[in-house]
Amino acid sequence: MEIFYEIKPLRAFLRGKRKNLSSIGLVPTMGALHQGHIELIKASRGQNDLTVCSIYVNPTQFNNAFDLEKYPRTLDSDKEKLEKAGCDVIFAPSNEEMYQTKSEIGFDVGEIGSVLEGEFRPGHFNGVAQVVCKLFNIIQPNRAYFGQKDFQQYKVIENLVDELQFDIQLTSVPIFRERSGLAMSSRNQRLNESEKANATVFYQSLLMASELVKKGEQFITVKNKVKQMCEATPNVKLEYIEWVDTKNLKPVQNVLDGSVLLIAGYVGDVRLIDNLLLE
Ligand code: AMP
Repeated sequence: MEIFYEIKPLRAFLRGKRKNLSSIGLVPTMGALHQGHIELIKASRGQNDLTVCSIYVNPTQFNNAFDLEKYPRTLDSDKEKLEKAGCDVIFAPSNEEMYQTKSEIGFDVGEIGSVLEGEFRPGHFNGVAQVVCKLFNIIQPNRAYFGQKDFQQYKVIENLVDELQFDIQLTSVPIFRERSGLAMSSRNQRLNESEKANATVFYQSLLMASELVKKGEQFITVKNKVKQMCEATPNVKLEYIEWVDTKNLKPVQNVLDGSVLLIAGYVGDVRLIDNLLLE
């Protein structure tokens, strides 16, 4: 496995490899890797001759300085996990490397980035689009892998690829969960055991909500039940639960097919998200 901290040598390396390879897969991450990330690496390895994993905590996508400061950084153990998973290349740049010039170009991912997560984390998806564009340009992968866990992020990136006509095939990989149902997340590292147990309320809420909407319950009633369930769980604060169309993230009332339930909230000071596709 090769590790690059700088763009120039990475580009030179990939230029050399491209001559003899039919495809390169990219898995963009912010590190503090868990099995969810490794599933993305596996998906890429299954479809490409060479897999690049980027590890970069991108400051422009954080709208909260505390969250950025507290974001776990575990490069040494990330390297071990990636080596074991058969990843070929790690790209782990510094901020100076990624933002060598002052950012003059404004990113605006439009309406799809302004609802749900975009409402609670203003500017978040503009930062995501900025860094993903940079990574696509630096690595020029044939395929890129993202998790369903960040459902809205995937939609934003799909739009970005369509609109800017990147010749990159995207894949969404299903959410990998703990046995408890808790969606794996790097931010879970900041939870103690009892907080982790409390955090399962988000997945439980999604399951309950899905049962109720399938039975034809009004979504306003479902929302209230989820609120009550979260309020009854220590240290948990629900931010939102919404039921939307997977294509445009607009609210749906009764159509199950092609819809998704999305939830976000805090356990203590750690913000978590989760979602469940309905059919
Ligand atoms: P992050 O490091 O949190 O930015 O995540 C990097 C990629 O891994 C994103 O595409 C995430 O959606 C994906 N990911 C994170 N957690 C999971 C999970 N539990 N299951 C599947 N994919 C995940």
